[in-house]
Amino acid sequence: DRIARIEAWEGPAATADGVPVKLMANVADGASARDAIAAPVEGVGLFRTELCFLDRAVEPSAEEQADIYAEVLEVFATAERADQHVVVRTLDAGSDKPVAFATHEGEENPALGVRGLRLAYENRGLMERQLDGIAAAAQRTGADAWVMAPMVATVTEAREFAAEVRERGLKPGVMIEVPSAALLADRMLEVVDFLSIGTNDLTQYTMAADRMASDLAHLTDPWQPAVLTLIQMTAAAGRRAGKPVGVCGEAAADPLLAVVLVGMGITSLSMAASAVRAVGARLAEVTEAQCREAAAVALAATSPRRAREAVHALLGA
Ligand code: PEP
Ligand code: MG
Repeated sequence: DRIARIEAWEGPAATADGVPVKLMANVADGASARDAIAAPVEGVGLFRTELCFLDRAVEPSAEEQADIYAEVLEVFATAERADQHVVVRTLDAGSDKPVAFATHEGEENPALGVRGLRLAYENRGLMERQLDGIAAAAQRTGADAWVMAPMVATVTEAREFAAEVRERGLKPGVMIEVPSAALLADRMLEVVDFLSIGTNDLTQYTMAADRMASDLAHLTDPWQPAVLTLIQMTAAAGRRAGKPVGVCGEAAADPLLAVVLVGMGITSLSMAASAVRAVGARLAEVTEAQCREAAAVALAATSPRRAREAVHALLGA
């Protein structure tokens, strides 16, 4: 039965006909990275660095930050994981994740305020010290560190960020979590090496519905046709550019939605390590053609419920 198949699933993930999909872990610090490798993960698709600093009143120096990041990077720098990378996200402070030394105070509307990459424009040194810390940690551990910025809204932001990351010998990418960035995915890929879709915020901003508001759960649903359409546009841009596009929001942990995302051409899914076996086992049951059909019926549906039902009916499960 399904539960036994999930528990027995070992990876690496692929569709029934052998199309590989990287299943990666979302981590918060060294301890969660060490826990994550109990599951068959292939690297880290989202290291939320702001979670290391929720209890800090004062910004740690670049050297201290390097020690913190190295704790995560070293877990994925072993010989057997030589082909795996760690996507380090720069500080996503503000809104639902306040960081005392970074968060912009006194905003009426913090989700639409100076958060994520926007803080770097207020405080240049903050970004520079963090990138120095990440580069030092990558050098010390020998890990393959990719670096991405959260809350990117314009191509200019992506270009400036990419330049700073490349200067330090690292691979730059941006998160796609603002609709403006999804609409410009082709142009984003002209300036960065990869994209990662943050479906939690992309859904919040597309639907104009607070991700924390439980009474808006019918709107903050990544199966919403508008959200699926923006994901599809982003994945298509990745295929055209021949560059990786992953998903690192909660959507990646939904096994049925994972089938749809792979059908759109998403190349990696990053999630809580505890969700990896269920997603991997589900993908192993479907062919690439079925994934594509699942994407087509989900995109054609007029509501999240109908999209789920259509994919269930198609896959006979
Ligand atoms: C997202 O927005 O989907 C995401 C992965 O980032 P976070 O949940 O940390 O905002
Ligand atoms: Mg986000």
